[in-house]
Amino acid sequence: MVSGRLCIAGLGPGALQQVTPEVAQALQDATDVVGYLPYVARARALARQGGREQAVAWHASDNRVELERARQALALAAQGRRVVVVSSGDPGVFAMASAVFEAIESAHGSEAALWQALDVQVLPGITAMLAAAARAGAPLGHDFCCINLSDNLKPWPVIARRVQLAAEADFAMAFYNPRSQSRPEGFVRLLQLLRGCCEPGRLLVFARAVSTPDEHLRVCTLADALPEMADMRTVVLVGNSMTRTVGRWVYTPRHYGMDGACAGSVP
Ligand code: SAH
Repeated sequence: MVSGRLCIAGLGPGALQQVTPEVAQALQDATDVVGYLPYVARARALARQGGREQAVAWHASDNRVELERARQALALAAQGRRVVVVSSGDPGVFAMASAVFEAIESAHGSEAALWQALDVQVLPGITAMLAAAARAGAPLGHDFCCINLSDNLKPWPVIARRVQLAAEADFAMAFYNPRSQSRPEGFVRLLQLLRGCCEPGRLLVFARAVSTPDEHLRVCTLADALPEMADMRTVVLVGNSMTRTVGRWVYTPRHYGMDGACAGSVP
């Protein structure tokens, strides 16, 4: 019987207050913490506060090695250790939870049996779009979807089709990984695509580094949006056709189609 445990934990958007008690407890009980360098640093800061920094083995790695990192965590858990894999936000949103299950699925022989028998738990966290929406008001107050703009793991035509159909169906949208230095063109294309199917007054929220000391929120219309407003620390929220401002807040009403035209509405 395997005694090890693997928790895949979400650290939230940045602030310690937004780490759930469940995740804090898992870190408190951990013998090993595995993850991308900045997230491991955040978990380490928490452990330092609790006086447990020396009691934990810290395994920080580069961003592009998710599957390797997942295998390392599974192997440690199979040795009987209590392992926490850390992600920012929620681990199930463009993060490590899928990578761990992919690693389990691709294991062979005795390793496959061992890994499938492990106690694996996914501990949710506050994902970036919800932290950002809360800061802005309630822009995701009606139906919405979220799309990862990174084309490292999927081709641009797939992204473009999803955006097009989501805009036609008048979903509000949240865009993760909007713009990196290595692929600045994706977000330019996104703005072009949105301008082709949404009105110029459509509201956008550029929420950068939410809940950290670098937090910055900017609300603008689609007509005024510029590619430079987004980077890899930004999540971009695009309202639906009914999203509006009241005072300094942005919100989407919960009643739909009762007051005015909306794109893609069914007659
Ligand atoms: N699992 C994470 C998402 C990882 S993808 C989550 O649930 O939030 C990384 C992307 O998340 C970034 O490019 C950015 O778009 C978004 N992001 C993560 N933290 C953020 C924060 N504090 N403020 C704004 N966007 C953030």
